[in-house]
Amino acid sequence: MILITKPNTTEAQIDHIIERIAQWGLRCEVSRGESRVVIGVIGAEDHIREKPLAALPGVESVTPVLKPYKLVSYEFRGMHSPVSVGGVQVGGAEVVVMSGPCSVESREQIVSIAQDIKAAGARILRGGAFKPRTSPYSFQGLGVEGLKLLAEAREVTGLPVITEIMDTKDLEAVEDYADCLQVGARNMQNFSLLKEVGRSKLPVMLKRGMSATIKDFLMSAEYILSEGNFNVILCERGIRTFETYTRNTLDLNAIPVLKAETHLPVVVDPTHGIGLREHVAAMSAAAVAAGADGLMVEVHNSPELAKSDGEQALLPEEFGCLMARVRAVAHAVGRSA
Ligand code: PEP
Ligand code: MN
Repeated sequence: MILITKPNTTEAQIDHIIERIAQWGLRCEVSRGESRVVIGVIGAEDHIREKPLAALPGVESVTPVLKPYKLVSYEFRGMHSPVSVGGVQVGGAEVVVMSGPCSVESREQIVSIAQDIKAAGARILRGGAFKPRTSPYSFQGLGVEGLKLLAEAREVTGLPVITEIMDTKDLEAVEDYADCLQVGARNMQNFSLLKEVGRSKLPVMLKRGMSATIKDFLMSAEYILSEGNFNVILCERGIRTFETYTRNTLDLNAIPVLKAETHLPVVVDPTHGIGLREHVAAMSAAAVAAGADGLMVEVHNSPELAKSDGEQALLPEEFGCLMARVRAVAHAVGRSA
């Protein structure tokens, strides 16, 4: 249920509304706009409906959220909500670029790539320590050792770190070293993992499942918010279609649709979306033009030796050219990068 206050409501009235909601055994999420405050009320629907919310002083309207996703819906906040990743705001005026290798492979590799992408303008370092691979015989990642190397690269560059969590049993270890948890496409509907990261203090970037509809995607995000973690970033990373020339089909449609449907920031992973190094920059530019709040781009200093996804990784100098192109498009749509 969403409460919207009258334009001249006082702070004392807002505090009173919040207190009363808590006394009723309900939770609320408060979003402050220029002249009004939007208060999303959380709890069992029948219980909320029984309460005289409209009678609280200062309340102008009480509206139920009719969509199946409630907490992620745009109406629940009435504005877009940026998410902080180690102090970097995702979902504000700046288009935030996250970059790094598919997998962390060695200290030299991750530190050198982190330095290169930082120099080119990336704001967040990515790198997989736990890798979801199609084949059990492929490189599975360095595990906790990889997490430690990511933390070392953060120490050297100051870039916050995002890395994938594949299993609930690894949550504590990942939380010890990372600034943001990534839930990968293959785990988008791993509901026990979603609930667990929903109880984490860290922000979560949820990637769209390769066969998930936009509604499925938003319902998965709802799982995380319903456990109390509102710091969720959505990532479109391409879906399976009949097309086989490219690795996936990057669903650019999802960007404006998600920006309209949800208050959560929307970032795009053009690397897995197209899977072909030479076209990653074009799809990055397209994503920013369509309104993406950020990008996730794989970079490797020696792609032919990469232990995963070498064919889609950009060299650091190619990443520099991509950043110049992304900056130009960001400025054209009234943002920075
Ligand atoms: C990745 O980011 O390296 C990755 C495995 O992505 P996805 O989950 O989108 O396939
Ligand atoms: Mn990858």
